[in-house]
Amino acid sequence: MTAPGITGLPAVWSEDCLRHDPAGEVWLGVWEPGTEVPERARVLLEALTQAGASVTGARRHDPDALLAVHDDELVDHLATIWAQWEAGGYERDYGRRRVVPYVFPTPGLLGGLPLRSPAATHGRAGRFCYDTMTLVGPGSWEAIRAAADAALTAADLVAAGQRVAYALCRPPGHHTTKSAYGGSCYLNNAAIAAAALRRAGAERVAVIDIDAHHGNGTQAIFYDRPDVYYGSLHVDPGAGWFPHYAGYADERGRGAGTGANRNLPLAPGTSDDDWLAAVDMLVNEVRGRGTDVVVVSLGVDAAAADPESPLQVSPAGYRRAGELIGPLGPVVAVQEGGYDLPSLGGLVVATLGGIVTGARDAGAATTSPWP
Ligand SMILES: [Zn+2]
Repeated sequence: MTAPGITGLPAVWSEDCLRHDPAGEVWLGVWEPGTEVPERARVLLEALTQAGASVTGARRHDPDALLAVHDDELVDHLATIWAQWEAGGYERDYGRRRVVPYVFPTPGLLGGLPLRSPAATHGRAGRFCYDTMTLVGPGSWEAIRAAADAALTAADLVAAGQRVAYALCRPPGHHTTKSAYGGSCYLNNAAIAAAALRRAGAERVAVIDIDAHHGNGTQAIFYDRPDVYYGSLHVDPGAGWFPHYAGYADERGRGAGTGANRNLPLAPGTSDDDWLAAVDMLVNEVRGRGTDVVVVSLGVDAAAADPESPLQVSPAGYRRAGELIGPLGPVVAVQEGGYDLPSLGGLVVATLGGIVTGARDAGAATTSPWP
């Protein structure tokens, strides 16, 4: 790989991001090892440090920043459910060592009845969680909160005039909606950053999601809004891939948000040329609409070596994606997926190097771009 050029790039993180250990996932009824492991964050930190990034600590933010995109009941649930599980003896007496939901209040179940908060902790476990893969244990909340703080701190840096900043968020976030979590995500770090940038004065924010999977949570959060564009390229849910229920091309936003949502589903096996053509389409759409700042949902699980998707993107492809996005404006890059530990760090460094190069070649200003 060529020189990545991220010397001095702010990379925000927190040690607390290591404290979330889901201890696997329950997938199709069977407890499996899982791939969203603490080692991911260690690998990324090592690669960024080696590449000369300026590693900086996440600053604790007010809960208001979380509540700008999430229901307070979801945030409260995530903050307290493990303690309730522990107090209920689920681990001690029944060997259930993580919070795993088993009943879900779907619209079909409720049939229009009000959504109640079940008395039993194991009943409540499915109230806000929409799958069985996204487990909560000791330390999960500290990591979830720290990941959001990393995204917010990176947004602060960009709002203060930094051209590009990166948030090493773990756990990832783009599958979490306003009030429901899943897909190994708990709080939506990228959406929280986008909302913070709006509050900091950016009138138009564009979220570009290059993770292999559709960011159904981010889409849902901003679906009715014209001020935060969401564009994603991802493996086609219509070909059988997570999140299954969202990510289709005809989802274009609703009401005032109509036209501010763009999905580009890609066939399994898609490699650099077609993947980059999709990135280029999103970049051109954002350029046409105009934006004050870009939030990149930086998932690198579209890489050929990744175990979680059938896309076949190379490190050079990721770097090129960064070069295409970099000229659009200031960038807050938020870590999403990426699960192949040997290649994960290089892929993220390559993408960030592309973003920095693209910004520099565009002669980008380094001062705060919005009034
Ligand atoms: Zn993903």
